[in-house]
Formats: sequence, structure tokens, C-alpha cells
Amino acid sequence: MATAVIAGVLRERAPDERRVALIPDAVTRLKKAGVEILVETGAGAAAWFSDADYTAAGAEVVPAEELLRRAEVVLCVGPPDAEAAAALRAGQTVIGLLEPYRHQDIVAELAERGVTLVSLDLLPRTLSRAQSMDALTSQASVAGYKAVLLAADSYDRYFPMLTTAAGTSKPAVVLVLGAGVAGLQAIATARRLGAVVSGYDVRPAAKGEIESLGAKYLELEGIADAATEGGYARQLTDEEQQVLLRALEDHVARADVVITTARVPGRKPPPLVTERAVQRMRSGSVVVDMAASDLGGNVEGSEPDKTAVLENGVTLIGAGNLPSVMATAASTAYARNISALLTHLLHEGAVRIDTDDEIQAGVVVAHAGAVLNTTVAGGAK
Ligand code: NAD
Repeated sequence: MATAVIAGVLRERAPDERRVALIPDAVTRLKKAGVEILVETGAGAAAWFSDADYTAAGAEVVPAEELLRRAEVVLCVGPPDAEAAAALRAGQTVIGLLEPYRHQDIVAELAERGVTLVSLDLLPRTLSRAQSMDALTSQASVAGYKAVLLAADSYDRYFPMLTTAAGTSKPAVVLVLGAGVAGLQAIATARRLGAVVSGYDVRPAAKGEIESLGAKYLELEGIADAATEGGYARQLTDEEQQVLLRALEDHVARADVVITTARVPGRKPPPLVTERAVQRMRSGSVVVDMAASDLGGNVEGSEPDKTAVLENGVTLIGAGNLPSVMATAASTAYARNISALLTHLLHEGAVRIDTDDEIQAGVVVAHAGAVLNTTVAGGAK
């Protein structure tokens, strides 16, 4: 009989990361599928899963050093840090949201040492059989929900219309820019809280999705269809960009809450809200920029993980790692995604890499000493 494959759940080391790659329920499920699970001491603590929970689910809780020595497959959320990476060896497989485009040096180094790297952020998202593995979607959904709660928390009025003996409150006017996974979840959440919501996306296909959530689609003049064949948005030309910024300004100025979620894969987030538009918003309004990054975000002046109350009384929130803020829900969904991918890779008790498989052709970044993903390989030189 084939021996069970040993998978190890590494504790996340990034300072702002509270998620964990597997939750105890997922341990139980994977054990039934023939996987033996090691969990690093304290790996789930920040997401409210104790070592005792993992032990009860059938995992063995061990220190990092032992885990990295015994595990054939290492499961993580973000990429391993330098210390953990240094302990990895040929033949081991690492599965996580490795962001190989941002971490090309570590990819090149681990690839050279014969470590197999599997990155969930490269999953082909339109394949229906890969949907259960789609961690970008599950995490974006958590982030979209949390962005609305952050906005509501900073907004010193009600979101819903409320009629009480002390008077009637007007519902908040919420504008969501970018209606991909996070944007649609933000729209749905703001609607559930009773706000009057509008949404906009440069992909016209988003119109039906926005309307089906009970929100209004902003019809803007002069912007061509920016959808690509893969379902993502293309980068707008400078001219289209200017038209869009002008067209959005009045809508931003009228909103009580603006949430921006727009991204273009592999590029700097597109600017959508100018400083002038924010200046025109009423005192007490709130802007959440979910695309805030070191490269800039959708809102002029936003910074990741930073909340600023501007001179005109507008609160500008640059979102940080929102899935980590809701670590339990995010880890629960992520654990499903990573378990589905791990199970997909297993054949007769071992990981079998087969890049003829469409899912593996996307996610396997490095194997047997080489960087396989051509775009990552190009940059990893
Ligand atoms: P994303 O995070 O890359 O971007 C967020 C949104 O911003 C996108 O909807 C994009 O169109 C929009 N955007 C980009 N530039 C803009 C601009 N200048 N102004 C306004 N909006 C702008 O996107 P995502 O959430 O990863 O989703 C991207 C696409 O992939 C969507 O079409 C989504 O439905 C699709 N998708 C499909 C599946 C599936 O088929 N299973 C799964 C996940 C996502």
C-alpha cells in the first residue's frame, strides 16, 4: 500500500499576516484523502485556531525545523521568508499565494535548488473545474465585504434609511468603482446594510452583475469597452483615462462613501479619484481605496494601511491586507482552495507534476530545477 504524503502547514511570518493555510476542518478532510498533516506550533493562533484544535483534528503539531525537514509538501499563504526558504530542499513542493512576479529572486533560487513551487495566484480562473481552488476570488470576496464594514465604521451616520420617533435618516449614498470579485461583494454588502449603491466598471459585462445586486450602473459617456478576451480589463489609453477621471468627478463628489477596487493585472492600479474630486466631497464622507499599494492606488494620495482624515473632513482609508483582518473567514475559504489544489496534484500517494494538465500548466512555477512559467522565468534571470 502507498504511504501517505506528508504535508506541513507553516506559520505565516509576515508581520501583518494573521491567516493560516489550513484550518482544523480541512485537516480532517485531507486525512481522509490520505494526507498526513504536520502543523507548525502556533500556526493558527492568530486566526483563532489553537494547536489543540489541530491535534484534535488529527494533525501533529511540531516546531518549524521539524516540519521543514519532514514535510514533502509545505502549505502556506504568503511566500516563505528567507529563513524557511533556506531550509527547503530538492523534491519538496511549496503551495501558496507565492506572488512569483514580485518575488522573482526567491523563485529563481528555490527553483535552482530543485524545490517545486506551486502558486495559487496563477490559477486559470475561467476553468470551471478550478473554481474550488480559486484563492484570488475567495480572498477578494472577503476583502470586498470588509472594505464596506471599514467604511461604515468610519462613517458617522447610518447606512440604511431609519425611521424612528427621533426622525428619519437618509440612506448613505455609496459608489463602488471596479466591479470584479471584490467590488461585487462590496456592492452586495453595502446593499445589505441598506445603502443606495451605484457601481462602475470599464468592462460593460459588469452592468448586469451590478444591477442584479440591486445597485445602479453608472453609464459614462466616451469610454470604450475595455474588456479583454480573458475577462480582465485592459489598461486605458491616457486620453480615455482623462475622460474617465472627468466623468467620475461629479459622482464621487455626490457620494457619502466611495470604495475603489480597480486593478489591471501586472500593472499599477488605474487612477480613478483625483485629489480635486476628494476635495469636493462633503465633510464626514469616507473613501476606501482597496487598490492602495506602494505603486499608488485608485485614489490620489492614498497609502496602504493608512487612514487619514483630510482637512475637508473626508476620511481616506488606504486598505492594507484586508483578508488578514478577517483571518478566520479568509483562512476557512483559503483552506478549501489549497486542499482542492493539493488533492488535484496527488497521484497514488505522491505529488505528480504534469504540466500537460491545464491547471498545473498555470500554477506550477518551478519544478525539477527549472522555472517553468515563461513570464516568471523571463524576469527571474
Ligand atoms: P481585478 O481585481 O483584476 O480588478 C477589479 C476590477 O477592476 C475588474 O472588474 C476590472 O474590470 C476593473 N477595472 C480595471 N480598470 C478599471 C478602470 N479604469 N475603471 C473601472 N474599473 C476598472 O479583477 P477580479 O476581481 O480578479 O476579476 C476580473 C475578472 O475575472 C472579472 O471579469 C471576473 O468576473 C472574472 N473572474 C472570473 C472567474 C471565473 O470565471 N470563475 C473567477 C474570478 C474572476
